Amino acid sequence: MASVLLEEMMSCEQCGHDTLYRKNAKKMSWILHIILSVVTMGGWLVIWGILFLWHIINKTGTALTNSWTCSACGNKKLIAL
Ligand SMILES: [Zn+2]
Repeated sequence: MASVLLEEMMSCEQCGHDTLYRKNAKKMSWILHIILSVVTMGGWLVIWGILFLWHIINKTGTALTNSWTCSACGNKKLIAL
């Protein structure tokens, strides 16, 4: 899993104008999983399944840490995508 930094312009209540908001997002590398599944002759699919379930379970817990942060004042914004 690779971590990706997302950037977006959003209006900040604390700054009073549009600022650059940043957010860390985790990205599943599907190609890597497919290659590993082929190499292990399907054995990796079991591990992939466990990883996928773990990701769903942890999604609710990481919702707070997955908020957008203002690059100017550090104000946090929760946006459900
Ligand atoms: Zn701000």
